[in-house]
Amino acid sequence: MNIKAQESIYKTLVEENAAGLFHLENDIITYANRSFSEVVRVSLNELIGTSIYDYILPDEKNILIEAIEKIKKGKLEKFNYDFKLNHDADEVIYFSMHLTPYTQSKEVTSIVGASRDATSRAMKNIEMLKAKSRFEALFRNMIDGILIYNYAEEKILDCNETALEMFGYEDYEAISKINRFDFIPKKSHFFPDMDLHEATKGHGQRVMNGEAFHTPGIINHKSGVQKIVSGNVVPTFHQYGEAFVIFHDITKRVLDKRTKQQTEKRYKDIFQNSHEAIIYIDPESMRPILCNPNALELMGVSSFEELVQLSIDDVLPENSPDKVYLIKSIQKALKEGKCEVSLTLKKQNQKSMRVSGMFVSDLSDKKNPKFIAFLRDVTTLYEAQEAIKNKNQELEKYIESNLQLENFAYFASHDLQTPLRSITSFTQLLERRLKDRISEEEKEFMSFITSSAINMQNLINDLLSYSRTNTTAINITEVSVKMLLEQLFIEMSSTIEEKQAEIIMHPFPESIGLDETKIRQVFQNLITNALKFSKPDQRPKIVISCQNKRNEWVFSIEDNGIGIKQEFQEKIFLLFKRLHTSQEYEGTGIGLAMVKKIISQHKGRIWLKSEYDKGSTFFFSINKKLS
Ligand code: ADP
Repeated sequence: MNIKAQESIYKTLVEENAAGLFHLENDIITYANRSFSEVVRVSLNELIGTSIYDYILPDEKNILIEAIEKIKKGKLEKFNYDFKLNHDADEVIYFSMHLTPYTQSKEVTSIVGASRDATSRAMKNIEMLKAKSRFEALFRNMIDGILIYNYAEEKILDCNETALEMFGYEDYEAISKINRFDFIPKKSHFFPDMDLHEATKGHGQRVMNGEAFHTPGIINHKSGVQKIVSGNVVPTFHQYGEAFVIFHDITKRVLDKRTKQQTEKRYKDIFQNSHEAIIYIDPESMRPILCNPNALELMGVSSFEELVQLSIDDVLPENSPDKVYLIKSIQKALKEGKCEVSLTLKKQNQKSMRVSGMFVSDLSDKKNPKFIAFLRDVTTLYEAQEAIKNKNQELEKYIESNLQLENFAYFASHDLQTPLRSITSFTQLLERRLKDRISEEEKEFMSFITSSAINMQNLINDLLSYSRTNTTAINITEVSVKMLLEQLFIEMSSTIEEKQAEIIMHPFPESIGLDETKIRQVFQNLITNALKFSKPDQRPKIVISCQNKRNEWVFSIEDNGIGIKQEFQEKIFLLFKRLHTSQEYEGTGIGLAMVKKIISQHKGRIWLKSEYDKGSTFFFSINKKLS
């Protein structure tokens, strides 16, 4: 081929080339082919003689200036760059620019350039960059912890902030030194029977096989605190063992669930083992839905199926008045939340029983409300209460008749006094007038009449003061018991001297709240008895003392007298109860009954310790709260 033909081929190659080719002399385009005019969107005629910088945006100009300078100086052999085209339209067009020096005699005389529309490639790159930054944003900011983990090399390739936080590390640098056998504990108190390293060993192989899987697990925080996590392992480059491990903390959820299960179990245990019969009832059908074993026992059936068969009439005794009450109680419970109940039910195949308890509404399902019956067999208690009620009624009647009797005793004894005084005075008058005319025997008869009348007068006097005890209210004042007793001893001095009695008084508190007149009567009676029931051959010794107890004062009057046999110790407090005849020891048998009454008015108790033939100690207490 001759040179001309060759030149023509080269010319065609250049002119028709798909790449935009151009030639620069001092930045001016001296030659360009059609493809280049298409790349820069300018016609060939207009293009020649323009500066290459005209096609470059101002902010990228320096890149090109620098490159051209270097090429000119022979410092750069090749320059490649994707520029944005400077043109009038809004559309962003990228074009690549390849520049190489044209050298003659080792001198760079001009620059040869090739160019191509690079818009689609640049766009792809931009999309890739966008996708990458989207992924980065997601990866860094996800509330789940993410590790990029290499299972083949057992190392963390990257992780996000959440993962760092969950493991307790500062930065990737620090965490990259550990692997999954460090951040997964071998043993955990959450699952004490498991070897967690053993359980996670197979994960590597699964990743290599390209399998994505879900796994719960335990992780170690750097501080040693363990957390339960739920994780997803998603292989990325499985052939290299790389996978995303995405996980989040479910410790609270698991523990809450466990607590809920435990609470449910506890409720179930209470339900099953409650002493009360618990029956869950549908008020619509009035049939049980659920019950505990005690409910079966209470109703006298052996299975729940049997219980379901029972209608309201089956559980109530025949013609029971409680039917309306039962229905009303259910309605009340449904309306007000709960209602106390007490009614008589029929135990299957057995007699009726009294039950008491509570109906409680369950409105969790508003359309179908239910109620729970908590019941207890209180038959024994009920019967006892009924018995007490009857006894109380009897007692009330008794008190009523007793009061009437006391009233009667008061008026009778009061009215008897006058005729008795007449008997005594007229007998004495008769005795004086007939003094010399009657025999000794007749005189004796007369004195019998007088002494009997005197006895009767004493009896009536005692009876009067006994009945007065009840009718006069107690009048509490602060009293010095020591002074009270000293006065009493002065009044009783003749008897004390006559008996040559020794009286010992232990210390008493300054003052005690009591009814002075009545307590003086108590001491007088008890001391008189102690002197009266002394042994004939022994000097009476009486010790009086007072003990300060938590709620009461306890007084004691101890003697060395004849004592009281055990079997009579309770009875002596009864009205008219005496252990001796009036010939042996004079008296009416009213004293201790009256003492007991006065002490009970002082909210106290009276009791004694006594040994027959050795002596007795009478104790009585006075409640401190009276004052
Ligand atoms: P009275 O002294 O008028 O017989 P009380 O009611 O005071 O009536 O006493 C009832 C009975 O209790 C007395 O008859 C006596 O048998 C017995 N008794 C009371 N105090 C003593 C005492 N200190 N020692 C022995 N017996 C006593």
